[in-house]
Amino acid sequence: MINHFEECIELLNKRGVTLDDIVECVIYLQKPYLKEINNEEIKETIISVINKREVQHAIITGINIDIASDDKVFYTKDLSKILDKDFSLYGVDEVLAYGICNLYGSIALTNFGYIDKTKPGIIGVLNKDKTRCNTFIDDIIGAIAAAAASKIAHGK
Ligand code: MG
Repeated sequence: MINHFEECIELLNKRGVTLDDIVECVIYLQKPYLKEINNEEIKETIISVINKREVQHAIITGINIDIASDDKVFYTKDLSKILDKDFSLYGVDEVLAYGICNLYGSIALTNFGYIDKTKPGIIGVLNKDKTRCNTFIDDIIGAIAAAAASKIAHGK
């Protein structure tokens, strides 16, 4: 089985997201519950999440849709218009993100709902950036952070 971990990191970087940006989102979620925050542990947990095949497939699919939307290469031309506006009723971006959360149980889903509402750090930056399509990547980042935070919570 091919591991697409490096490909995923490269795709995230290409769209302006680093592992440290995701660490920041996990800290945001965990701060109220943890006495001490261990950045290295958080980073390792994020890496373990991105090492899962289903997560890699979600990252690659979502970011490729964002890129394809920027390149206007969809068969249905209106799809780029729908994605550019990130219509709140579009919803497929969130459904893809749920796929990541579902691997980590109900705490991950709750975390995702919270981070999707509050949009901390890089998620807020991506949301405000209207120069390109960030419809899928913001939810993917939120889901990875939510999954990592729940994995840490279960380990305590
Ligand atoms: Mg979105």
